[in-house]
Amino acid sequence: MHLRHSEVYALTSAVVVSKTALWVVDPGFLPAEVDDIRHEVDRLIRRLAPRPRYLLLTHADFDHIVGVHAFPDFQVVAARAAIRRLVGRLQVAQAVDEELLIERPKQAYQPFSVTHPVGQDPIRIDSATLYPGAGHTADGLLSLLRAADGQRLLVAGDYLSALEPAHISRWSGVTATFERLAQLIGTSDRLLVGHGPATDRVGGFGRLRSDAGYLARLLGQRGDGLSQDRMMNDSLPPGPQTRTVLRYHKDNVRSLFHTIPQSAARGLAGRMAAAGRGETPEG
Ligand SMILES: [Zn+2]
Repeated sequence: MHLRHSEVYALTSAVVVSKTALWVVDPGFLPAEVDDIRHEVDRLIRRLAPRPRYLLLTHADFDHIVGVHAFPDFQVVAARAAIRRLVGRLQVAQAVDEELLIERPKQAYQPFSVTHPVGQDPIRIDSATLYPGAGHTADGLLSLLRAADGQRLLVAGDYLSALEPAHISRWSGVTATFERLAQLIGTSDRLLVGHGPATDRVGGFGRLRSDAGYLARLLGQRGDGLSQDRMMNDSLPPGPQTRTVLRYHKDNVRSLFHTIPQSAARGLAGRMAAAGRGETPEG
């Protein structure tokens, strides 16, 4: 496995060789980084027996998809919900590039086709299993990849980062996603996240405890009828309180009040707290 962290957002990209395929995860942000990943891939293609190539997109936020154009020979694997976000997110990528004077080929901003869309049911491709993972966005994807050396890699996208707290726009799906994460961490050797360092199983459970604990506390307070203002100010996530963290927290509280009625929040809080303890639902 070859890991690469962008100088922008510490975005994680990965190149993974499995026994029968070649996988690229979230292919870089800055043009030089995208080129480096492409060179690494070309080096592997020359060295390995021919095999299918898959580009795995953890979700369709612009920084995760702006390198896709450099991999036209790859089949794209993404959540079905990503498809309708591509046009808008690629326009954001173009606006960011224009502001930062980043030059890219124009095809970087053209929507691409998703060869293997993942809906509500998990699917298997090669040695990977892919699960829906709504929460951060509607189009999250959780993937368990088995590398050629036998390592089981959990690719979690924008959950369980050591650099930022959970940032939730879809509360309706996030409890099931954290239950799935609890199950998958238990069956994996390494956790790859969208931003910042990877970790092992123990580290993964530690991050799960922290993030699910924070989300369970918000759900519990929603169930108890706390006001939105009070939660904005008093229920901050653990860790450094940067401006970005405060913004994420405010987004989290606002979207929680928009989407989860008080009557549903208490039950969800209990499930989220259990996920944080690494417990998975029966069945
Ligand atoms: Zn991200």
